Amino acid sequence: MNKQWMQFVEEVKGIYGKDFVPLHEPTFNEKELEYVTDCVKSGWVSSVGAYVTRFEEALAKFVGVKRAVAVVNGTAALHIALKVAGVEADDEVLMPSLTFIATANAVSYCNAIPHFVDVHEETLGIDPFKLEAYLSEISEVRNNELFNKNTNRRIKALVPMHTFGHAVHLDELIAIAEKYHIVLIEDAAESLGTYYKGKHTGSFGKINAMSFNGNKIITTGGGGAILTDDETLADYAKHLTTTAKVPHKWEYAHDEIGYNYRMPNINAAIGYAQLEKLEQFLVQKKALANKYEELVAHLDSVTIFTEPAHSNSNYWLQTLKLADSLNRDEVLTFLNEQGIMSRPIWQPMHELEMYKHCPIMDLAVTNDLQRRLVNIASTPLEVK
Ligand SMILES: *Cc1c(COP(=O)(O)O)cnc(C)c1O
Repeated sequence: MNKQWMQFVEEVKGIYGKDFVPLHEPTFNEKELEYVTDCVKSGWVSSVGAYVTRFEEALAKFVGVKRAVAVVNGTAALHIALKVAGVEADDEVLMPSLTFIATANAVSYCNAIPHFVDVHEETLGIDPFKLEAYLSEISEVRNNELFNKNTNRRIKALVPMHTFGHAVHLDELIAIAEKYHIVLIEDAAESLGTYYKGKHTGSFGKINAMSFNGNKIITTGGGGAILTDDETLADYAKHLTTTAKVPHKWEYAHDEIGYNYRMPNINAAIGYAQLEKLEQFLVQKKALANKYEELVAHLDSVTIFTEPAHSNSNYWLQTLKLADSLNRDEVLTFLNEQGIMSRPIWQPMHELEMYKHCPIMDLAVTNDLQRRLVNIASTPLEVK
């Protein structure tokens, strides 16, 4: 790699003031310690406690939904969101191939089948225009339900994912969901703090999922949430994630096979402190994105991915887009050797052993982007 790239490495190290720059580290201060200490002292560290409720209420308010149900991780949130939205065994679920594996696994936990669709260059998420053309060809509505004419299976849901915190074309996807009688469920795992035309992501689908894993924009250690405006679905999601236990003072009564998915209070204590800092993280992420835009301007054949016009993005992970003349793996090797941690985007789901027999549409953009996108150091911090 040439002098421009050496210069880039020095500048990035300069921003962080370190010789080794991780991809994304959590940012804590005394608040997390204060709330965790309070939680431990209270004795309520497990699946019941005041911080879980506080965290749920603050999160629901921030996102602008009626209810948030806190769970152990984002994958569990997706699993239960799909289940309460009515996804059943042998249903197909439309989702991007270009996503983190959790989206596909959650569909599998419902014994349903992922059906992989292509993404749009402008958002890195599902391309509604291509999807509409595809559905008009391969599917048909029978009795208000959508069927795949090739497999004869019901297509129950559409799960867009807001890649690296950039909102997908939601208006168009909502129109498709309505026209084709399928349920929209957002995988908003990466998009806390991202707005689509002024409205927070994770509030558009019938029911949606978020993640608070250690590398996400805020963390609870491990954690996730189910978000919805539908009180009945929220109650059911809470019931299923708390072992389907029927409230009683002392009896163990359960009315179906539930899950032990409730977020522990000690994790919620961390999350509550993190939520207080979210606005600040968002400002810092934007500043970092602007800084990278400046730095990348000095590199040939590279651009930095910037938010689509409809999106006010959280810039969770900063993303370089390489031209054909650059070899992705050479860039990755160079940056990692220089101490700037960088990662390729995920291997597309349709290439993985366990998912390669699932239905797919033409995935030209997915396959192209997969060779071009590189995530670089994205921890929020004050940028001058
Ligand atoms: C992080 C993430 C999830 C959920 O991950 P957990 O680690 O289970 O919290 C789901 N989907 C996407 C796209 C993600 O990035």
